[in-house]
Amino acid sequence: MERVAIVGAGHAGVQAAASLRDEGFGGDIELVNAESALPYHRPPLSKRFAEGLTDEAIALRPAAFYAAEDIRLRLGTAVEEIDARRQRLTLRTGEQLAYDQLILATGSRNRRLAVPGAELNGIVSIRDLGDAYRLASSVVIGTRAFVVGAGYLGLEVAAVLARRGVKVTVAASRPLPLGRSVSPETAKVLAAALSDMGIETIVGASIAGFEGDTCLSGVRLGDGSLSETELVVIGIGAVPNVELADHAGLAVDDGILVNEALATSAANISAIGDCARIRGCSRLESVANATFQARRIAARLCGKPDLTPETPWFWSDIGEFKLKMVGVRQPDDVVQTLTVDGGHVALCFRDGQLAAVETINANRVHVAARRILDAGVPLGMDVANAPGFDIVAHAKALAARAAEGFRAA
Ligand code: FAD
Repeated sequence: MERVAIVGAGHAGVQAAASLRDEGFGGDIELVNAESALPYHRPPLSKRFAEGLTDEAIALRPAAFYAAEDIRLRLGTAVEEIDARRQRLTLRTGEQLAYDQLILATGSRNRRLAVPGAELNGIVSIRDLGDAYRLASSVVIGTRAFVVGAGYLGLEVAAVLARRGVKVTVAASRPLPLGRSVSPETAKVLAAALSDMGIETIVGASIAGFEGDTCLSGVRLGDGSLSETELVVIGIGAVPNVELADHAGLAVDDGILVNEALATSAANISAIGDCARIRGCSRLESVANATFQARRIAARLCGKPDLTPETPWFWSDIGEFKLKMVGVRQPDDVVQTLTVDGGHVALCFRDGQLAAVETINANRVHVAARRILDAGVPLGMDVANAPGFDIVAHAKALAARAAEGFRAA
């Protein structure tokens, strides 16, 4: 293997390039990205857009990193085609790039809302730096904003706007905010938090269209009513960027399909991050997943042992509410809530064993839960229910036992 090409320089692509070097790969690395900005962290876009973000402040790595690691970073350059048989990429510039191994890290894009008026000025969604700048310029005290969707991005943006004196309405398709992602118990805490922030939530709302001449003036709801507003933020989820892979004949189905080793259906092509889905599992959209898969693929391509599996985890900052989740909750999980350090904790049990943990402003519990779930040592509901059970102390005891075992070995 002499030439590795990576398509997409988001969290996954950049980490893959860095990890290849960490693992000792000395060949060529071509890292090709459609966006022109120096590759950057996406989470601050929806949490800190009003603070005047700069490219440098949110860069994943300083510009000098790529030169120092001999990584050829091509910005503003989309890959238009993969010739999987000849192992070649065609770039938008017409240039061709040959590879021995190809890593697809094309990420995802925001789902669009196809209703009349969707092209009016004043309707934004947040995915890239340009969106964050546009949103920042729309924050004017005393104006109104209408957020379509009560998922992470919608709620994060709503909280920032409300804090800046914008009157915010959130339209939620489900009875509770984040109803698809967190337990009803945690969603209720968030619903109360939104109300405390002065954010109005319309439950079960459908959007018929947007009104205005060239600039937006209001949102027409499914029941015929009009909500007047100067700004609309669309946050209705993301779809994976699979078209490049699809056209090349790779298997795709809500993501580029990969096996446990992150290999696609084509020889010498792997896929990682938001664009990839492991067969039989749901696709994950998180920085932790993108970074971990990038480290794993680098290890595999360099012939190193596979990494110890990590339990999926995710965070979101909704104003002052620091939501963290570890493990993937299922609708049938039995949920027990407790208050630790003044924060909210929801323990989710499946078949009597701890399977996922949601916390709001209880970081010590999140860290402990990750330790417990990563260790793979079962924690039964009976143990967690025993009087005086302390999950943080339990995690520490597990770590101490593991260290003892390590020393003994
Ligand atoms: P991306 O970061 O999407 O990068 C993919 C890159 O590939 C893009 O730059 C794209 O332009 C490029 N590309 C696509 N097609 C081509 C092509 N044909 N040729 C060349 N380049 C191409 N996750 C969390 O865990 N916590 C958070 O708090 C959080 N907040 C978020 C806030 C926002 C506003 C957004 C948008 C996402 C957030 N996420 C968060 C999700 C997280 O950012 C993603 O899971 C992560 O960015 C995935 O990384 P990736 O490298 O797979 O994809």
